[in-house]
Amino acid sequence: MNAYTARVLEELKTRNAHESEFLQAATEILESLSPVFDKRPELEAAGLLERFVEPERVILFRVPWVDDQGKTRVNRGYRVQFNSAIGPYKGGLRLHPSVNLSILKFLGFEQVLKNSLTGLPIGGGKGGSDFDPKGKSDREVMAFCQSFMTELYRHIGQDTDVPAGDIGTGAREIGYLYGQYKRLTGLYEGVLTGKGLTYGGSLARTQATGYGLCYFVKNMVEANGKTVQGKTVLVSGSGNVAIYAVEKITQMGAKVVAMSDSNGYIYDPNGIHLDVVKQIKEVERGRIKEYAARVPGSEYHEGCKGIWSLKCDIALPCATQNELDAEGAKALVANGCFAVGEGANMPSTLEATELFLQNGVLFAPGKAANAGGVAVSALEMSQNSQRLSWTFQEVDDKLKDIMKGIFDKCAEAAATYGDKPTNYVVGANVAGFLKVADAMMAQGVV
Ligand code: NDP
Repeated sequence: MNAYTARVLEELKTRNAHESEFLQAATEILESLSPVFDKRPELEAAGLLERFVEPERVILFRVPWVDDQGKTRVNRGYRVQFNSAIGPYKGGLRLHPSVNLSILKFLGFEQVLKNSLTGLPIGGGKGGSDFDPKGKSDREVMAFCQSFMTELYRHIGQDTDVPAGDIGTGAREIGYLYGQYKRLTGLYEGVLTGKGLTYGGSLARTQATGYGLCYFVKNMVEANGKTVQGKTVLVSGSGNVAIYAVEKITQMGAKVVAMSDSNGYIYDPNGIHLDVVKQIKEVERGRIKEYAARVPGSEYHEGCKGIWSLKCDIALPCATQNELDAEGAKALVANGCFAVGEGANMPSTLEATELFLQNGVLFAPGKAANAGGVAVSALEMSQNSQRLSWTFQEVDDKLKDIMKGIFDKCAEAAATYGDKPTNYVVGANVAGFLKVADAMMAQGVV
């Protein structure tokens, strides 16, 4: 590793010793960027990397709300405004009990590069809370969202920071958050994306991350002389990203045989019936286990990591960070899996990623492969500013072009800076970084 990159990484480890997820993401990113600093010493002279790894601002706040029993509850709210060199901060709000500053800093850091890769004018941020919407009534979720926005509203706006959904934040939560923002500010503006279609949302936003992942994977696989059609696929998770990845990859002629949630996974050798999954997860907010009781010939297994022991050609981890470790990666490699596309953010551990790269598995890193969601969010911002709504087809066509553009940028940067031309990890990190670095250099020491 270049001496400058190594020094900044060491300092980062000392200053943020307890932030394991943030350091994991930073290690991968800084290792990839090392050859850039070899070629461009002026970046070191400007202290570019020291500034790049530090969020511009972190907002941390109390979120008090009253539950259905009349008891006062207190959660912790966050917004990490990481980098605004190329546009307003943009990134989702995660509602999950595991949320902490380390996780939001890793997500915000990845988001900076991801948003840059889309080619659209959006900076990077991330936020959320340790609130768990699971098992809460609609009224409780609304009370939480209103309280959360009562602090957040003063830090966001259509030209400053535009949050969106993420784990635990779907259409219902975005609706409550938007209503409270409008009530507090009196502004009808595109301050959140992932909105409902009746109040400024974009067609195809719901599908965008999952569809975009499949477009990226198809580009990657075909560029390497292979096809998606006829292949057997595993998709972990059963939330927004997973469901629409299954829908699109099936339309492309592949067969998905397994999905999961945090309790376990289902295996259906005949191919997943997505209508049943949608009914359970989107309508009933139930558990994936119920699928096995409804579809003859399918099985349910406790323990979500077991999904990686199944035989497949393509694996799409679409649940959460670090869900795919070295053991899972070894099993996938041994079973002949030839491509992995990350729908989730950092689902593969550093060891798993290394195993894929060493064994010649085509590996699409999340910050490139799942960028379709934020790209369509940026298209939602454009439609809001223009007071227009585009058709599903228009948005989907733009999404396809954007994902092709992202793949091409990753491939080009991998060819220039990577140890091999298929190292899309290096490709994504370098291509995303260069645009942000050039903008930061142009804007002086800020
Ligand atoms: P959802 O909340 O809709 O779904 C998350 C899914 O993952 C749920 O089925 C959840 O199950 C499952 N899950 C959580 N932990 C595990 C685990 N350890 N093993 C297996 N399954 C698990 O979230 P999204 O689909 O929106 O997000 C999924 C990932 O994609 C996240 O990493 C997110 O950051 C990323 N992403 C999302 C985008 C979007 O547009 N939504 C855009 C880009 C990235 P359970 O119900 O049991 O918790």
